Amino acid sequence: MVQKRTLGRTGLQVSVVGFGGTWISQLSMDKAVQVVRRAFELGINYFDTAKLDGDSEEKIGVALKDVREEYILATKTASRTKRESLADFKSSLRRLKTDRLDLIQLHGIDDEKTLEKAMGPNGSLEMCKKARSEGLVDYIGITSHKPHVLIKAIETNEFDTVLVPLNVVTRQALEELIPLAKDLDIGVAIMKPLSAKTSKLITCLYEPSLSLLSNEPELKTLLGQDNSSMVQNAIRFVLAQDVSVVVTGMKSIEEVETAAKVGEAYRGLTEDEEKRFRAQFEGKYCRDCGLCLPCPQNLDTAAILRFHTLSVTYGFKNWAKRLYDGLEVDVDKCTECGECEPKCPYKLPIISMLKEAQVCLQR
Ligand code: SF4
Ligand code: SF4
Repeated sequence: MVQKRTLGRTGLQVSVVGFGGTWISQLSMDKAVQVVRRAFELGINYFDTAKLDGDSEEKIGVALKDVREEYILATKTASRTKRESLADFKSSLRRLKTDRLDLIQLHGIDDEKTLEKAMGPNGSLEMCKKARSEGLVDYIGITSHKPHVLIKAIETNEFDTVLVPLNVVTRQALEELIPLAKDLDIGVAIMKPLSAKTSKLITCLYEPSLSLLSNEPELKTLLGQDNSSMVQNAIRFVLAQDVSVVVTGMKSIEEVETAAKVGEAYRGLTEDEEKRFRAQFEGKYCRDCGLCLPCPQNLDTAAILRFHTLSVTYGFKNWAKRLYDGLEVDVDKCTECGECEPKCPYKLPIISMLKEAQVCLQR
């Protein structure tokens, strides 16, 4: 059976591998029920879905209706007002065929303005707290792609959990967020363990049905030569961090069994894995927060610096060059206007870093 860890101050015992509901919206009801049920049978007890994930809530509701007390159900509202998020909440209960949730999460709060709105008067947090006081939900969490926003959120002490991306090439959460969450006893759930944020879009390593979109030889050197090894190693990397549950999207029984096997067998990284997964963040490096954007010349500064990190820190030199080649605007277009630098909370010398990146990334 899949091992369990404690989800921070909630005290919930969650399987180290959680079921992410996104992909089952692409399956028929029968197939989705089989996939979800197989996950439950193998000891996965953390099911994370969202009102925005197509009909995933409905499918999880049908698949697990008779075992509601035996698993942990987490969903999300992407509405920012009390009134709209209440409608989401009611709809989620109905679709999930339950009268209570374990965890409701504010979904995709990727900037501070949105956080302020959701936490302000008549914001969605008020709805969550009211639902909690009425016994309709036990805990409140927040999800974001931006660790710096989650740091602000958990400092308010209003949230019991965070859900944030973490994978072999997206490690920003390890720097400040996860240690802070640990100090505050906030549960840490991880999303996108198999995804690499390589451009504006998230590029999945594993999507769908064991077919790798990213066939990068350099990534294979890090994670393994076949799909199954890559998936297992990518999950093992995340399990080695101070996190409670790795939520990964699954859409076939084979994928469920692969992920569950890792969650059952994991006993720490081998010496060789520790060496391979080590990344040297030295000196000045971009945390990819995006706060320096927009640039009047339309340079995607965050992406360029991300590719540079991919090359320098992780050794993905060819991959990074190809990604840089794919950008519409390159560093030559920078007029050195200086607008970006004061916006960087880490006080990075962005202009000189872009120049260094260009030298490194040009073919
Ligand atoms: S200094 Fe260059 S990168 Fe920064 S905002 Fe100006 S043009 Fe854009
Ligand atoms: S350069 Fe600074 S502001 Fe821009 S993305 Fe990187 S860390 Fe954030």
